[in-house]
Amino acid sequence: MQLSFSLDDDPILERIRVQLLAVYGTQRDGDRVDPTSLFVYAMISGRTYDRVSSTAFVKLCHLLASWDELPDANVDAVAKAIADVKFAARKAEHLISAARIIRARHSRFDLSFLADWSFDDARSWLTKLPGVGPKVAVATLNFSELRKRGLVVDTHVLRTSKRIGILPDRADYVAGFNGLSRLVPNHWDAEDLYEIHWLMKELGQTTCKFQRPACERCPLGKLCAYARRSAVH
Ligand code: SF4
Repeated sequence: MQLSFSLDDDPILERIRVQLLAVYGTQRDGDRVDPTSLFVYAMISGRTYDRVSSTAFVKLCHLLASWDELPDANVDAVAKAIADVKFAARKAEHLISAARIIRARHSRFDLSFLADWSFDDARSWLTKLPGVGPKVAVATLNFSELRKRGLVVDTHVLRTSKRIGILPDRADYVAGFNGLSRLVPNHWDAEDLYEIHWLMKELGQTTCKFQRPACERCPLGKLCAYARRSAVH
C-alpha cells in the first residue's frame, strides 16, 4: 500500500513519537541482517516471546549449513529445531514451502533480489507465500538491510493503536497496516518507521499491556481515547 501524503500540521503519529521518545529514547539501529535471515526469523517468531524465537532461530542455523539447504530440509528436523515456538510444525511446513517457491523463481532461497523492488510490489509478492502475513512481509522489508519504507504492525502496535483511538477496535493486521500507513507523515523515512514500531512495541510491553494498561503512568495519557474513557468512568 502506498503511504499517503499527510496534510495534517500536527500528525498524530508524530505526537506519539515525540512523547515516546522522551521516555524510551531513540530506537534507531545501525545493525541489520540480510532479508533472508530476517524472513526466516519473522516466520518462526509469530505469537512467541522474542527470547524463545531467538533461541529457536539459533538452533535452526545450527541445523543448516546455509539457507540454501532450507528448501530441501526435512520438515520434522526443522520442526524439532524450532520446537519451542508456537505452532512449530505448521511454521516448519510453511517455511520450507515458501523457501521452495522463492528458489524456484529466483534460483536460490535468497531474498536480496527484493532490493530492486518497490515496497508495495515486494510486500504484495511476499504475502502470497505460504504462511506470510503483513507482519512477516513488512518486517522482512523494513527491519532487514533492505530498509524499505513500511510500518511493521505487530500485536503491541495493533493493541495500543486501537486503545489510543487511531485504529478501529476490530482492525486485524491487514486493516491495522493499511490504517496506520495512512497516518504516516510524508517526510518520514524507513528509519522513522522502524523507530515508531519499536517505540510503540516498548509501550505495549511495558505500559499498555494486554490485561491491564497502566494509564496513570503512560506518556500518551493526554492523547489516548481509552484513558479519557477510563477517567470519565
Ligand atoms: S493511556 Fe492507557 S490505554 Fe492509552 S496507550 Fe497509554 S496505557 Fe495504553
